[in-house]
Amino acid sequence: MSEPLRRLLAGLPDLLPMLEASYKDIHAHPELSMQESRTAGIAAQHLADNGYEVTTGIGKTGVVGLLRNGEGPTVMLRADMDALPIREDTGLDYASTATAVDPSGKAVPVAHSCGHDMHVAWLMGASMLFARHQDAWRGTLIMLFQPGEETAQGARAMIDDGLFERFPRPDVVLGQHVMVGPAGTVAGSAGPITSAADSLQIRMFGRGAHGSMPQASIDPVVMAASTVLRLQTVVSREVAATEAAVVTVGVLQAGTKENVIPDEALIKLNVRTFDEDVRKRVLAAIERIVNAEAQASGAPRPPEITPLDRYPLNVNDRQASDRVAAAFRAYFSADRVHHTGPAPASEDFGCFGTEWNAPSVFWFVGGTDPELHAKAKAEGRLNELPVNHSPHFAPVLHPTLQTGVEAMATAAMAWNAAG
Ligand SMILES: [Zn+2]
Ligand SMILES: [Zn+2]
Repeated sequence: MSEPLRRLLAGLPDLLPMLEASYKDIHAHPELSMQESRTAGIAAQHLADNGYEVTTGIGKTGVVGLLRNGEGPTVMLRADMDALPIREDTGLDYASTATAVDPSGKAVPVAHSCGHDMHVAWLMGASMLFARHQDAWRGTLIMLFQPGEETAQGARAMIDDGLFERFPRPDVVLGQHVMVGPAGTVAGSAGPITSAADSLQIRMFGRGAHGSMPQASIDPVVMAASTVLRLQTVVSREVAATEAAVVTVGVLQAGTKENVIPDEALIKLNVRTFDEDVRKRVLAAIERIVNAEAQASGAPRPPEITPLDRYPLNVNDRQASDRVAAAFRAYFSADRVHHTGPAPASEDFGCFGTEWNAPSVFWFVGGTDPELHAKAKAEGRLNELPVNHSPHFAPVLHPTLQTGVEAMATAAMAWNAAG
C-alpha cells in the first residue's frame, strides 16, 4: 500500500461507529426514487460539516460536494440514494417499517432492498477521510449523491439540471454497488459491467364482445397470449449463441370478467442487452412481432408501443479500469479482488461518463456473510441467497461498510495520490 493511501485510511476504524449509526438511520428511513429529501439532507450536512462546497437540489434532490486541494486530477465519486417500494422482511432490528406515496398516489411500503443506503454511508466515509487528510492527495474531488437510480431518472435529472456546466469535468468517474458476494471482496472487469435495459409498454387493441359470441369479437387475450409466446423466440432464434439478451414479459393484463371478451390487452416487458447492435436488433424484433401478431388477429388498429424507461449500457473504460484493478490488488490482497463479467442488472451511472466524455469505472462490493456464501457455494445453492430487490436482502455490516469506503478511497487515490 502506498504511503499516502495508508495515511488516508489510518483514520477509518475510528469512523466506523459513526458510519454504522448513519447507515442504520438511513436504512430505517428509506425514501422512494426522486423523494430522497431526508437522505439528501443528511449527505449535504455531512459534506458541509467536512468543509465541502455543497450544492443541493440538483435534479430535485441531488447533492454535490466539491473539495479543491491544489493542482491535480478531478475525480468524481458517486452514490445513489433511493429505496424501493418493497416491504422489508429481513428481521433486522433496524429494518424499515416506512411507507410512502408513490407517483401514482398509492401508499406503498419502502425499503432499502438494493443497498443504496450502504452506498450513501460509503461515500460519507470517503468524503470524511479525504477532508481530514488533505496532505495525502492533490486535485479536486466531486462527491455526488444521486436520486432516482431505480427509476432511471436521477442521473438524467442531474445532467438536465446543468451538472456539466456547474462543475468541472472529471478525469474519471467512479461508482460502486453492493451485491451478493463474500463481504470483504470487490469484483469488476473492463468493458460492459451492467446491461442496457429497455422497458416497453404495449397496448394491443381488439374488439370486445359477449364471451358466448367470439365471432363478434377480435380477441385481444388470444392476440396478447400469442404475442408473449412468439416474443420468446427473439432471444432463442434471433440472438447468436455468443451474444446475450433477456426479454421478460413482466405484465400481461386483459379483461375484468370471465364471460366478457375485453377490447384491449396490456403487455409490459423488459429487455437487457450488452451490445448496442444486439439491443437494436432485439427491439426491432419485438416491434415486428407485436405488429405482425396484431395484424394476424385482424386488430382494428395497430398496437401502441411506448418506452417506459431506459438504462444505458454501463461500460468500464479499459485503461481506467486496469488502474483501479491494480490499486485494488495492491491494497486488498489479490484473493479479495474478483473478476466478474457484466451483470444483467442495470444502472444509470453510465450516463455521467458517457455524456461528460470522461472514462468511468463501476465495480461491485460483496455484502454477503462470507461463511454463508462459502456454504451456499459448496452446496450449489448460491442462487438461493437473497439478491438485490429481494425483501430479504440486507448486506452484513462488517466488513461491508469498511470495504466499500476502502474501495472508494483506494480507487480515487489511483488518480489523486500525493507523494
Ligand atoms: Zn436496484
Ligand atoms: Zn441499486
